[in-house]
Amino acid sequence: MPALPQIYVERISAQLGDETAAFLRSMEAPRSYGLRLHTPKLSPADGDPALRSLTARFGLTPLPWCGTGFAYDGETRPGKHPYHHAGLYYIQEPSAMIAAELLEPQPGDLVLDLAAAPGGKTTQIAAKLQGEGLLVANEIHPGRARILAENVERLGIANAVVVQATPGELAARLPEAFDKIMLDAPCSGEGMFRKEPEACAEWSTDAVAMCAARQRDILPDAAAMLKPGGRLVYSTCTFNREENEETIAWFLAAHPAFRLVSTKRMWPHRGEGEGHFAAVLEKEAEPSDDRVRPAKRRAKSGKAPRSDAAGALSALKLYESFAAQALPGYALPASGVPLLFGESFYWYPQPAGSPLPAESLDGLRTHRPGLHLGDVKKGRFEPAHALAHAVRARDAALTRDYPADSAAVLAYLRGEALFDDRSGHEGAPSQGWGLLCADGHPLGWFKASGGQLKNHYPKGLRTN
Ligand code: SAM
Repeated sequence: MPALPQIYVERISAQLGDETAAFLRSMEAPRSYGLRLHTPKLSPADGDPALRSLTARFGLTPLPWCGTGFAYDGETRPGKHPYHHAGLYYIQEPSAMIAAELLEPQPGDLVLDLAAAPGGKTTQIAAKLQGEGLLVANEIHPGRARILAENVERLGIANAVVVQATPGELAARLPEAFDKIMLDAPCSGEGMFRKEPEACAEWSTDAVAMCAARQRDILPDAAAMLKPGGRLVYSTCTFNREENEETIAWFLAAHPAFRLVSTKRMWPHRGEGEGHFAAVLEKEAEPSDDRVRPAKRRAKSGKAPRSDAAGALSALKLYESFAAQALPGYALPASGVPLLFGESFYWYPQPAGSPLPAESLDGLRTHRPGLHLGDVKKGRFEPAHALAHAVRARDAALTRDYPADSAAVLAYLRGEALFDDRSGHEGAPSQGWGLLCADGHPLGWFKASGGQLKNHYPKGLRTN
């Protein structure tokens, strides 16, 4: 890590007093590493052997503030393991897990994650929703929105929509629309110094002031999208008061409909993690005059192609006949509608009371309009990789299951075709679409024919 700027040390000393020396010592210590189990696929309570294997291999230590979160030994690289490809966990900085815990999303809630990429809080919220309700994950930056969509896909989240808009554009479309809102604001990243030395090199008092100004622009937009009685968590991974307590005080002074429920600070010298701030805000139950900020008009945030309604119905028929053969155990989430964009066929989440029904997507740049079921090519249905992650092995008619560290799993992740060593075994189907699994957890599709498993693991995700 580069040397801490003198002015930074002075500011943190004024803030921390007696604790300054312990804080500065922690900055010299190795950074911490964390992962969070994605409970729809792997729960700490369900006795899955994958969890025993993870605990032993990565040296998992439970985190007190997140029941599904663990610190791990940084040498062990769990991001490279086949279980990561299977979406069993998300690599997340330990203290960052506090924010979604404080949001307390419940199954059925309508939730917005306003600054969502790469998806730590989005995936944590999704696990808590248990597939019920709606999660709108927004990211302003196009490249980061694509990574967010990939992470949502890897974890098999069906009820999330990934959009790319400015907070102002969303606020104009979606006044008082959500039960819960996460605003993990862009910040000066003082809690990233051990993890990303560039964050330290780029730090300045001007950068802090600029971040605070941007936060004060975004927070009222987030607030305008919260329903009366709803909960908003504002969080940052920085330590200074300007971007944290002072931003919240500034906001509360201008928004009397809100009250501060609590604040939480995580420090690297007090516990595991790089440090985080979170403030829990609630909006009073009566509708307020805080609905839409008058200065901001409804704006189109980008081109979004319209779904082909007739095409979507024929695609649904093709999907249904595919699913009857290949996924007899899987039922599409009840509250969804089919959407077809070109060849790509989606199941769009539309629970009761959704503020973002499919017809309202017009003009909103949407990276992931729900669960990508597959593509329709020349009248044939080809399943999407996202679908392989949204189902369980037991839903499929044809699976090939190997130990996670077997040669077959590693070859599959490299994109190689596999010899089907179980073809012709009594009772084992050996033709058509099937799921390649690691210790019972789907990694992706293959197509079996003539004793071979043709590899359909996406090229962009293959290992070397
Ligand atoms: N919540 C994410 C997670 O847990 O993985 C991390 C979000 S990161 C702290 C803040 C995000 O805000 C970045 O992805 C960044 O691209 C986005 N951002 C930057 N400027 C923004 C703006 N003016 N309005 C909204 N989001 C912005």
